[in-house]
Amino acid sequence: MAFPLGAPDSPGAPLPVELNKNSARLIRMRWLAGLAMLVATPVGVYALHLPLPTLPLIALGTVILAYNGLLWWLSRRAGMSWEVSRLMATGQVAFDWLALAVFVHLTGGIESPAILFFLFHVLLAAMLLSGHTAYLYAGLVIVVVAAVAGLEAAGWLPHYDVLPALPAGLYRDPLYIAGLLAFFATTVLVTVTLTASIVHDLRERERQITMLYQSIQTLSSSLDLTHVLNQLVRGITHTLQAKAASIRLLDQTGERLEIRAAYGLSQTYLDKGPVEIKRSPIDQEALRGQPVIVEDTAHDERLQYPSEIVAEGLHSILCVALIGRRGPLGVLRVYGWRPNFFTQEDADFVTAIARQGGMAIENAMAYGELRRTDEMKSQFVRAVTHELRSPVAGAQSLLRTVTHDLAGGLNDLQRDVLRRLSDRLDALQMLIDDLLDLAAGKVEGLETELTPVSIEAAALSAVDRLASQAKEKGIDLRVEYVPRGLTVMASEEGLGRIFLNLIGNAIKYTLPGGRVNVSLEQADDEVVITVCDTGIGIPEVDLPHLFEEFYRASNVKRSGITGTGLGLAIVKDLVERYKGRISVRSKLGEGTTFTVVLPLAG
Ligand code: ADP
Repeated sequence: MAFPLGAPDSPGAPLPVELNKNSARLIRMRWLAGLAMLVATPVGVYALHLPLPTLPLIALGTVILAYNGLLWWLSRRAGMSWEVSRLMATGQVAFDWLALAVFVHLTGGIESPAILFFLFHVLLAAMLLSGHTAYLYAGLVIVVVAAVAGLEAAGWLPHYDVLPALPAGLYRDPLYIAGLLAFFATTVLVTVTLTASIVHDLRERERQITMLYQSIQTLSSSLDLTHVLNQLVRGITHTLQAKAASIRLLDQTGERLEIRAAYGLSQTYLDKGPVEIKRSPIDQEALRGQPVIVEDTAHDERLQYPSEIVAEGLHSILCVALIGRRGPLGVLRVYGWRPNFFTQEDADFVTAIARQGGMAIENAMAYGELRRTDEMKSQFVRAVTHELRSPVAGAQSLLRTVTHDLAGGLNDLQRDVLRRLSDRLDALQMLIDDLLDLAAGKVEGLETELTPVSIEAAALSAVDRLASQAKEKGIDLRVEYVPRGLTVMASEEGLGRIFLNLIGNAIKYTLPGGRVNVSLEQADDEVVITVCDTGIGIPEVDLPHLFEEFYRASNVKRSGITGTGLGLAIVKDLVERYKGRISVRSKLGEGTTFTVVLPLAG
């Protein structure tokens, strides 16, 4: 999974979900406002005898309900794009602002207590719209209230005296108007500033927490070092809306930092080569565990090549150490578009991410090391077994010359000893073959290319090869449900090996008179292969270890049936290489069923 790529707008902009939720909230409130206007006007006029303009107020209430109905209808249409959602939010705020201005005018202009309602709207605008638009809106609110007051004072708009308690003509007093407007403007501006900054911080925090959560998930789900490093630099750059990020890891000497992943940096910059730690005070400080912020790269003495950094467009740097369980592994640097780009909170956040990153890097490195060791071991096994194969084959052919009396006659005792020797050599040959197969799968570069292979042909050919062995043992070997024309991405030899091993084992571990069934079935885009026998079964304690190399169940070790314990390890390896899965069910004394599921080709 990728890191979040940030909202479609500048930092702190509302996320689409949030925008839609707030729009819905506003629509609900507007139903109330419209209805209240329709109900409160007649009550005010006829019950309280207030001198309100009835018809205009009822008309205003109706218009509000009408455009709210339209907005409600629009908001219920699925699949609205981010742009449309934002347009709707801005449109609503603008309409409300106009409706409120008319309402204020109809209820007494500058003397109207409804002026305070504008504050709700300023608050909502600061939450709904991004920074600049919210300020623009607040400015317009002040202008419109001032305009209504001015027009009424000048007599260009009628004035409704809704509060008879106030001295008549107060709405024309310039000092009164100026004083009220000054208070109103200050309240509006303070409200918008406070709300916008709180909402901005909260959104940033939310974005960072989402990123932290997703980064933990992504990093802990991968053991591929390159993938982990790339995810880290990409994710950090996007979340902090920074210019670029890079990861340098310590080399083997521990004296230099080599670039291992970068995002947003030019190739020329990356080609600069490794950084000598003793010449880089910033990295030294970071590696000691202290996050470092370079506020302005053009004027920081700690930088070795400030001009190159500035030329790359990197104007500030945040540098933190990537620390594993055994100490520092390297440094994570994030670069800002302008000076003073990073805050202390960013440093804390990147430090938290780097801590997770350090662990993930260490795990991926350990896994890589393990794989390399495993490959070396396999290479060694391969080399040794390869060397052993010819002498064993040679010894066997010499032995055959003697046992077939081609080198003179043998007495019974000699013949018996030589037969046992030949059996041992057969077992050795089997072990060598299995070891070679196992090693082949693990040595890089030796993998065979996967092509569509007929599953039917592979199954039938294996059954054919093992039929005589089954017959000799008096075992009923059957093949069921073979769908035609199914292919899987595999190598012919590998797929054959899977069938030979599973069917061979079923025959080997089934007593004379038993049954072995092989079946193939298609299930969606997969093929399910089952090899089922009525054999000796496998003790439950051995089941979890069955696919480990050299593992043989306790019952077969006692029975004297020979084997290497490598066949199933090879089968599992092959099945996984073909992107499939294998499982086993068994009951001691009753039988065993192996199930292999492989994805169909194409
Ligand atoms: P081996 O050479 O010993 O057969 P495998 O890796 O093929 O090695 O199998 C590992 C172990 O799994 C066997 O030693 C045996 O204990 C058990 N096993 C595999 N297939 C069967 C089966 N069909 N019935 C009973 N036991 C089985």
